[in-house]
Amino acid sequence: MRINGERLLKDLTELGQIGYRENHGVTRLALTDDDLRARAWLKERMEDAGLTVRLDPCANQIGSLPGQDSDQPVLIIGSHLDTVPEGGPYDGALGVLGGLECARTLQEEGVTLPWDLEIINFTDEEGHRYAGTLGSRAMMGLLAPAEIWKSRREDVEPIGNRLSALGLDPDRIETAQRSPDAIRGYLELHIEQGRVLETRPADVGVVTGIVGIYRYVVEVLGRANHAGTTPMAQRADALVAAAPAFHLLPEWARARSENMVATIGQIEVAPGGINIIPGLCRFSVELRSLCSRDMEGVRDRLTDWLDENVPARFETVFEKDGVTLDSNLREILHQSAVDYGLLAHSMPSGAGHDAQSFAPYVSTGMLFVPSQEGISHSPQEYSEPRWLINGVQTLLGTVLRLAAE
Ligand SMILES: [Zn+2]
Repeated sequence: MRINGERLLKDLTELGQIGYRENHGVTRLALTDDDLRARAWLKERMEDAGLTVRLDPCANQIGSLPGQDSDQPVLIIGSHLDTVPEGGPYDGALGVLGGLECARTLQEEGVTLPWDLEIINFTDEEGHRYAGTLGSRAMMGLLAPAEIWKSRREDVEPIGNRLSALGLDPDRIETAQRSPDAIRGYLELHIEQGRVLETRPADVGVVTGIVGIYRYVVEVLGRANHAGTTPMAQRADALVAAAPAFHLLPEWARARSENMVATIGQIEVAPGGINIIPGLCRFSVELRSLCSRDMEGVRDRLTDWLDENVPARFETVFEKDGVTLDSNLREILHQSAVDYGLLAHSMPSGAGHDAQSFAPYVSTGMLFVPSQEGISHSPQEYSEPRWLINGVQTLLGTVLRLAAE
């Protein structure tokens, strides 16, 4: 059974016009007017395809295709239509429209699945204005109700107000939670946003897990003083004391495992004058890996090094462990790729996705298609049409294999 590739590409192009500005890519921040226009567009497409569309209490947009027995746990295909500022046309959109294309193909071919299929556009995956993966976390009961009254920016009203404006009751946000027992599986198709697939002979990537993230802030302490009158021997320069950590950290990560990354993305000195010796050097540390032990290992090397070498404060921002995806679904995704003559490559995801919310509770499978030069969250984000079609085709094959189980 083949999807209609042309129809898929036409949908992606049409949706890509919503929130598009010349040279600035696509901007559809969660629950802004542009996002609402995209949702209205999707609702129409879903209804045309015969899906029943509803909003849950967290504004997740759900299109249902009834199967033979609606009492059976449902299969969900989900992703998101919101974007970062000046993003690309495929991040998130491919997963939602790919799901829609699968539902349409099934309808056209006269196939009724044994159970209901839901295509979901999750609210605020990107987290530019709010907390990120908000809708999927609400569905898995991972959202603290207080979160919807916070926003990341002062000029942005809390998402609770936006939910009210949509006619939803923010005080009932907890009722967005669904029982994992009522969900037979969760599938997400996404662009890779990295260069692993492009540099291999691979058509699709079968995701093994979504990496964990550990974040810290380190403050190395020195003594601020006059840059002209303080001789070199009498200085306690916080930046100079901190500097070895900037190359040691990546070395420790490389030595630990080729599957982990370590990044110092922010450095700041205080007081911060051109003629003042830094009295304080503050820097961020981010570690990502599927393996918590690897992240703990590098974290411990850093804290040991700090203890032995410099006066410093070390603060944990958060330590969020990675999740491994369902091995049975991984196998089925692989087989489905083979069914269509495609090469599949197993790989972890270095970025977070809605799938992460589901994976601890529900059988979860995730599929990547290549991103040209690994570029994403950018107007330059691009995937070739055949890559996109291959991904959706593999997704449809996976649904059919699950239906035949
Ligand atoms: Zn995304």
